[in-house]
Amino acid sequence: MSASAQQWSPSSWRDKPIAQDVIYEDKAHLEKVLTKLRRLPPLVSPVEIDRLRAQLADVATGKAFLLQGGDCAELFDDCSQDPIEHKLSLILLMSLIILHGSRLPVVRIARIAGQYAKPRSKPTEIIEKREVMSFRGDNVNGYEVHERAPDPERLLGAYFHSTATLNYIRTLLLSGFADLHKPLDWSFSHVRSPELHQAFSAVIDSLKDSLDFMKVATGGTGGRDRGGMETVDLFTSHEALLLEYEEALTRSFDSAVPQSFSPSSTRNSTPSVSRSASHVRVATDPSSTGRYPHSPVRPPKSPSLGDGFHGSFTEMKLSSGEDRKAERWYNTSAHFIWIGDRTRQLDGAHVEYFRGIANPIGIKVGPTMQPEEIVRILDIVNPDRIPGKVTLIGRYGAEKVDKYLPDHIEAVKKTDHVVVWQCDAMHGNTRSSVTDPTLKTRHFVDVITEITKSMAIHREKGTILGGVHLELTGEVNDEGYSVTECIGGSMELEDKDLSFNYRTHCDPRLNFEQGLDVAFLLADHLGS
Ligand code: PEP
Ligand code: MN
Repeated sequence: MSASAQQWSPSSWRDKPIAQDVIYEDKAHLEKVLTKLRRLPPLVSPVEIDRLRAQLADVATGKAFLLQGGDCAELFDDCSQDPIEHKLSLILLMSLIILHGSRLPVVRIARIAGQYAKPRSKPTEIIEKREVMSFRGDNVNGYEVHERAPDPERLLGAYFHSTATLNYIRTLLLSGFADLHKPLDWSFSHVRSPELHQAFSAVIDSLKDSLDFMKVATGGTGGRDRGGMETVDLFTSHEALLLEYEEALTRSFDSAVPQSFSPSSTRNSTPSVSRSASHVRVATDPSSTGRYPHSPVRPPKSPSLGDGFHGSFTEMKLSSGEDRKAERWYNTSAHFIWIGDRTRQLDGAHVEYFRGIANPIGIKVGPTMQPEEIVRILDIVNPDRIPGKVTLIGRYGAEKVDKYLPDHIEAVKKTDHVVVWQCDAMHGNTRSSVTDPTLKTRHFVDVITEITKSMAIHREKGTILGGVHLELTGEVNDEGYSVTECIGGSMELEDKDLSFNYRTHCDPRLNFEQGLDVAFLLADHLGS
C-alpha cells in the first residue's frame, strides 16, 4: 500500500522511521508534558492559516511576492521587547521596500514564535575535551555545556515563549506599529549608511505622496478607517522538527460546523474575515463577526464562535477517494511550517505528518533532491493540488543553483502541481570564517548571486520565483550596532569584523543593513 493510501492521524508518523530524533530519558516526564500541551489552546486559528494559504496561491501565480525571514535558531531569551521590535521592524521595512519597487503585494512570514528546534549534521560535538550532545535548539536542550541533555520541560517552554512572542507581535500590529503613515518609526535611526538613508528616504517620500493622494481621492478624513493601511498581515513559521510537539498542537476542526452554528440572519453575509486588512484584527476586533470558524475538538459552548463564517474550505480528500467533510486537521503552533532538508525522506515520519495537515507547508529542496523525488513528495503532501499549499524552498548555493534548479523546475512543470518557488539563499552558502574558523559565515555576494540566478533561471523556464527565504535579524547590541555574522553588503563588513557582534547560536544571519540591501535589490529586479 502506498504511503498516501494509508490512514493518516496526527500520530501516524510514529510508525515511520524518523530522522533527527530526540531521545528523552524520562518518558513519563515527556508524556506528562505532552498531556499538558494537548490541553493548551491553539496559538493560531484555521481562519488565519487558510488566509495565508490563499495569499500563497497568489504568490504561486505571480500576483504577490513572499518574504520569509528570521533567526536560524530563535532563543527563549529572544522573547523580549527590543529583539521582537527589531525583528519586526526589519521585516516590515523590507516588505515596504519590495512592495514599493515591485508594485506587488508582499506576503510576510517570519521565522518567529516557535523556530526553536534545530537539525544538526552531527549528533554530538567535543567541547572542553568532552563529547556532548549538539545544541538542538532551546526547546530540546540548552546551549551551555551542562544543559545538553534533552529536557521535556523545554517543550512547554517553547509553547509559552511562542505564545508571549506572538502576543507581543499581535499587540504591536494592533497598536499601529505597522502603520504605513509612520514607517520612519520602524527603528531606522541607528542605520549609519548614508546611501541606505538616502534610498529609504526616497521610498518614504514617494509613499507619503501616494498616501496624500489617496486621502484626497477617497475624501478620507484621516480617522479610524484609513484605507486599510494602518496594519498588515504577518504570519509565523518554523521548521516542524519535533513531531511530538507538533502532534500535540494539531487540532481537528469540523468544516461543517460554521454553517450549522450560523444564525439565519448572518448565514448569507460575506465573512468579514475575507475583507479585513489583517488577520490579527480578525481574531481580536470585537466589531468583527468572523472569528474562529469553529471550536477545536469539542463543540463550541457558544454559538457565537461560528457566527457569520462562510469561508470556502476545500474539502480534504484522502487518496482512498473519500471526502473527509467533517474533519480537517490544522497544526495550530504556526501558520506555516516546513520540512527541513535533512528530514524529507519520502517514507519518513516528517513527510507522513505533513501530508495530513491543512496548513500551507514548505519543503526544503537542495542538491541531493532527485527531480522525480520532488514529484513524489508533492503527490504525497498535496494529492488534491490545493493552490498555495506547497512552497518549494530551494537552497542550493550560489555555485550549484544553475546545476540543480533547472531540472527541478522541469520535473514539476510536467505535473499539474502549482507550487510557490522560493529561494533560500542562505543554507547553500555557509562557509567558515578565515580569521576564526570556529565561526560560520555567509558572503552577501553569494546570497545575492543565488537570488538573481534563481530569478533568471525561472524567467528562462517560464516559471516564477515567488519569494525569498532568509536568515536575518534586526537585532542590535546595547550600543546600537547590528550583528556582524555575514560578510559584505553596503556596510562592507569584512571577515575580521565578524567577532565584533557575532551573536547567533546557530547559522549566521544577515543584519539590519544587509537585509535592507537585499530588499532594495529585490525591488530593483522585480520592478524592472
Ligand atoms: C534552516 O532553515 O535553518 C535549516 C536547517 O535549513 P535546511 O533544512 O535547508 O538545512
Ligand atoms: Mn539555519
